[in-house]
Amino acid sequence: MSDLDKQTLDNGHGNGQKRDSFGLPDDPEAKRIRLERFVADQQLLASQSIPTPHTPHIINTVRLPDALRKKILVTGGAGFVGSHLVDRLMAEGHEVVVLDNFFTGRKANVEHWLHHPNFSLVRHDVTLPILLEVDQIYHLACPASPPHYQYNPVKTIKTSTMGTINMLGLAKRVKARILLASTSEIYGDPTVHPQPESYWGNVNTIGIRACYDEGKRVAETMMYAYKSQNNVEIRVARIFNTFGPRMHPNDGRVVSNFIIQSLQNKDITIYGDGTYTRSFQYVDDLVNGLIKLMNGNYDMPVNIGNPDEYTINDFATKIRDKCGSKSKIVYLPKVADDPTQRKADITTAKREIDWEPKVTVDEGLEKTIEYFKGEVEAAGEIIPTGPDAVKPKGGK
Ligand code: NAD
Repeated sequence: MSDLDKQTLDNGHGNGQKRDSFGLPDDPEAKRIRLERFVADQQLLASQSIPTPHTPHIINTVRLPDALRKKILVTGGAGFVGSHLVDRLMAEGHEVVVLDNFFTGRKANVEHWLHHPNFSLVRHDVTLPILLEVDQIYHLACPASPPHYQYNPVKTIKTSTMGTINMLGLAKRVKARILLASTSEIYGDPTVHPQPESYWGNVNTIGIRACYDEGKRVAETMMYAYKSQNNVEIRVARIFNTFGPRMHPNDGRVVSNFIIQSLQNKDITIYGDGTYTRSFQYVDDLVNGLIKLMNGNYDMPVNIGNPDEYTINDFATKIRDKCGSKSKIVYLPKVADDPTQRKADITTAKREIDWEPKVTVDEGLEKTIEYFKGEVEAAGEIIPTGPDAVKPKGGK
């Protein structure tokens, strides 16, 4: 017997059993068992997410009949809000296509779905056209934090304008319903409080926030132009401040900064005197609102936010206490065009889509603090981003 024959029979396992080129037992029964196991593994993988360092918990996916399963595009789906929306749509059994250029989004936010047959990830910039066959489009692509959207204001404007035109063109071509993630920023520094959808806003057209605020305002305008001229089915969500796990650690907004500073016992920085107010909603509530709005019948703009209002001073103290931190609160000069108050009037959401927030700020903060503990531990140290324009940095 040649050495090769011996190796084929023995393959280093020493029991004389015939083995294939991978060293696995080469008899019909063993092959059958392996095939059964393979099929079972594939079925398991098609029924859940895979635990990753970023998303260690398993999310189960239901198997929807073909008639109910939709093909859904989420632009900006690797970002903070988008990735939570993707989790919900995947859990409901839909086919989800994430389109993202990873400017502020992270692959880690959707890595737990990469294996799943219902999931596709496309690296693409919405400022360029794309052809896809989809039933619904959640159009979220756009940096949301001021230091990030101010880093390249021209690109931010292009993302909101050319990006929205491209997505509306796609929606028109394939007859998909499209939802725009608009923002409370379209109200600018409001002179009406709280802000109902009927309020037209008070925006500085040439201020440092204008690339974002005006970009979203014209994006809304384009949505209604495509509706009236081309019968595109549209939905417009005016999203108020949202927080939760997977926020970008360097996003520079109050929730992430106050938590990161508290966890590291560093000074908590407040820009201005801290008497101005904000309201904060937990990301799960926002995702519920977006899905209800998309699948309901109402197509005028809808505010989605938690009306619980805090002064920035109270909010900083709350976070510091929840983190058990010794941080000092320090005051720095106010940032240009920062609105003095912001509070959602959610009468329309309650009436038209039967939505209101369910998660209290305290519950939401506890989950968010846990997430940031992991981020700080993984990074060793995080130096929070200030109000100045900055390129997004950190983790994949
Ligand atoms: P985010 O920065 O975490 O997510 C935005 C995503 O869009 C990222 O994954 C980013 O890489 C991607 N993106 C940016 N420009 C792109 C481009 N040109 N092409 C393709 N992808 C691009 O922000 P977020 O907090 O998840 O916000 C999501 C949406 O919700 C945004 O449209 C934002 O304006 C809106 N919004 C968010 C909030 C909030 O508090 N988080 C408030 C109001 C509105």
